[in-house]
Amino acid sequence: MTATDTHCPYCALQCGMTLTPEIPRVRLEPRDFPVNKGGLCAKGFTAADLLDHRDRLLTPLVRKGDRSSPLREATWDEALDRIAAAITTAQQKYGRNSVGAFGGGGLTNEKAYALGKFVRVVLRSSSIDYNGRFCMSSAATAANRSLGIDRGLPFPLEDIAQAKTVLLVGANPADAMPPSMQYLDAGREHGARHIVVDPRRTNTAAGAYLHLQPLPGTDLALANGMLHIAIREGYVDRDYLEARTTGFEAVKAATNAYWPERVERMTGVPENRLRETVRLLATQGPAMILTARGAEQHSNGTDTAQAYLNLALALGLVGRPFSGYGTITGQGNGQGGREHGQKADQLPGYRKLDDPAARKHVAAVWGIDPDDLPGPGKSAYEMLTDDSLRVLMVLASNIVVSAPHSNHVRSKLEALDFLVVSDIFRSETAELADVVLPVAQWAEEEGTMTNLEGRVLRRKRALPPPPDVKSDLEMLAELSGRLSRDFESDPRAVFDELRRASAGGIADYAGITYERIEREDGVFWPCPSEDHPGTPRLFADSFPTKDGRARLIAVQHRDPAEMPDKQFPYVLTTGRNMQHYQSGNQTRRVKALNVALPEPRAEIHPDLARRHGIADGDLVELRSRRGAAVLRARLSDGIRPDTVFAPFHWPGANALTNPALDPHSRMPAFKACAVAITRLIP
Ligand code: SF4
Repeated sequence: MTATDTHCPYCALQCGMTLTPEIPRVRLEPRDFPVNKGGLCAKGFTAADLLDHRDRLLTPLVRKGDRSSPLREATWDEALDRIAAAITTAQQKYGRNSVGAFGGGGLTNEKAYALGKFVRVVLRSSSIDYNGRFCMSSAATAANRSLGIDRGLPFPLEDIAQAKTVLLVGANPADAMPPSMQYLDAGREHGARHIVVDPRRTNTAAGAYLHLQPLPGTDLALANGMLHIAIREGYVDRDYLEARTTGFEAVKAATNAYWPERVERMTGVPENRLRETVRLLATQGPAMILTARGAEQHSNGTDTAQAYLNLALALGLVGRPFSGYGTITGQGNGQGGREHGQKADQLPGYRKLDDPAARKHVAAVWGIDPDDLPGPGKSAYEMLTDDSLRVLMVLASNIVVSAPHSNHVRSKLEALDFLVVSDIFRSETAELADVVLPVAQWAEEEGTMTNLEGRVLRRKRALPPPPDVKSDLEMLAELSGRLSRDFESDPRAVFDELRRASAGGIADYAGITYERIEREDGVFWPCPSEDHPGTPRLFADSFPTKDGRARLIAVQHRDPAEMPDKQFPYVLTTGRNMQHYQSGNQTRRVKALNVALPEPRAEIHPDLARRHGIADGDLVELRSRRGAAVLRARLSDGIRPDTVFAPFHWPGANALTNPALDPHSRMPAFKACAVAITRLIP
C-alpha cells in the first residue's frame, strides 16, 4: 500500500500527515512538516474516520415532488439535468442574478477559483459569496486598506517563537489549533510574555502572563486606550512613523479621549494591566499583535482590526524581524478561499471586480469580453436573505447552522425555487435541498490549499473516491456542459489557469507549481515567477500601497449593534471548542470527538448562575430577539459574570446571533448580542 503525504482536512494550520490505505481502514500518521512538526490535534488524528463513515453520501439525492417529499437516490444524470433545468427556468423568468452560489473556505484553491469562474462565465451572474464573509472579512478589509495586502500572517509561524511579547486578541489557538501552541510555548521557554485579550479564560488565556477580560464589543476601545498610553508615555516610534506610514496625527487626535480610567470603565480591564501591556509591547521586543475572530466578528470588526493595526504601526512593529501584526485565519483554506474569486466583489489574484484593468486581465484568461463579466454582487447574508435569489448552489458550507440569525436564513432557503447542496454528509442544509450531490473529500482528490501563513500546500489523493462520487470540479464541468459551456475539471490544469489569472495581482501565484510545492514544503505567495523564491515575510522594505507606506486610520469605538437591556440583560458571545470544527457537520460524526464533547455547553459565571438558580449541568434556555436555544450549563469562574458563551458547532447558537453587518466588510456581529437566560425545569 502506498503512503501519501498530505494535509489535515480541517483548520488553517494545515498540519502535515501521511495516509496509507490499509485493510480495513486507512492508517493516518502525523508528519514532520514545517507547520506542525509532527503534531496533530484530536481532530487531525481522527480525520480518517471521515473517509469510510457510514453517514457518507454515496449517491445523488433528489425529491420526487415538492419539498415535503423525501430525498431519494438518483443518478448523476437525473440530478444534474434537474439542476440545469432549474437554472435555465429561473434565469429566463427572473434574470441572471436570480441564480447564485455559496462557496466555502474549505474548498481547495482550484475549486474556489472554478466556482467564481462558473458563476461569472457560465451563469453570468453576480450572485456569489462564501462563508469566509462570516469569518475573515473584517481583518481582510482592514489589512487591505492599511497595509495594501491581506495575508493573515505576513510572516511564518516560526517567527512567533522568536517574539518576546505577543498580544493575542480574541484568539484561542490552544483550543482551535493546538499544534500551533508549540511556537508560543517555545517563546515562553526563552522568557517571552504573552497577553491574551478574551472575555473568557480560555486554555490560551490560562497559560498567558496577562489575561485582559474586556466586555465583548469593546476591543477597539481597548486598543485605542493602549495607543493613548503609548503616545503619552513616549513609546511610539517616531522615526518609523515618519519613514514608513501616513495618518498618525489623525489617529493621535482620535485616541485623545481614550484615557486609561475611561477605557477601564468602558471595557472592564484594569488600567494597570493596560499600562503593563503597552510597556511590554514597546520595550520587550521583538513584539507582535495577533487578532482573531473574537475581535473581528463585530458590527465594527474592520475598525477594531484597524485599531490594533494602528497600535502595531505606531510602535514600529510591522515589517521588523519577528515582530508585526497578523490575523489568525481559521478555516482550512480560509486564506486561499478569499483570494481566487468566490467573494462577491473579487476576481482571482485578489483583484477587485470593479477595477477595469483587473476585469480585462481575467476576462482575457477566461476568453471572454470584459463587458460580459458581471459586476460585484451582494455579501453572504444579504445574498442569502434577498428575495430575488431563486436558485442557490451551496458548496462546502452548512449555512443553516453557521449563518447568523439562522432561523431567518433557513426560512429563506426554504422559500427558494431550487436549492442544491454538494457535500460529503447530509448536513442540516442538505436536508432542505432539492438536490444533494455526493462529492469527493480531502484525501480522495488533488488540489492546493493556502494556510494561515500564506504558504501554498498540496493536498494529495491517497485513495479513490467511492464509485458514484464525483469531485466538485467534475460536477461543475458536467453542469457547465449542460449549460453549453466547456469547463476544465482537472485540478492541475485548473491550477495552471489560476496561476495565469492571478499573475500580477496581489495574491500572485504565477511562479507556484505542484512540483515546487512538493520540493519546497510549500511556497509562500506572492511568487510572480518560477525562479522567484516566494515571500515568507512581507513589508521588510515597503508596503504594497501606492506610496509604499502603511496607513494609520482613525477609528472610534461604537457600541455593539445590540446592547443588553432589561429584557435581554446579558451579552452572548460564540466560539469554538477543541473537539469540533465549524458547523460540526464532520466532527459531530467522529466517534472519539463526539464522546469527548457530545453536546454544546453554555458557559456561565457562578454569580450569574446563582441569580437564576442554575446548577452545573442544568438545561438552560438562551433567548435573543431572534430565537432561542437550549443548552446544558457549564459553570466557570473564567467567564465574565455579564457574558454567556455558546459554541457554534451545533444548531442553536446562531439562532440567537445578530446579523447586523460591519459597514466595511459586511461581516455579521457574531460575537456580541443581547440574551436572556432561563433555567428549564428538569
Ligand atoms: Fe488539523 Fe488544525 Fe488540528 Fe492541525 S490543528 S490537526 S490542521 S484541525
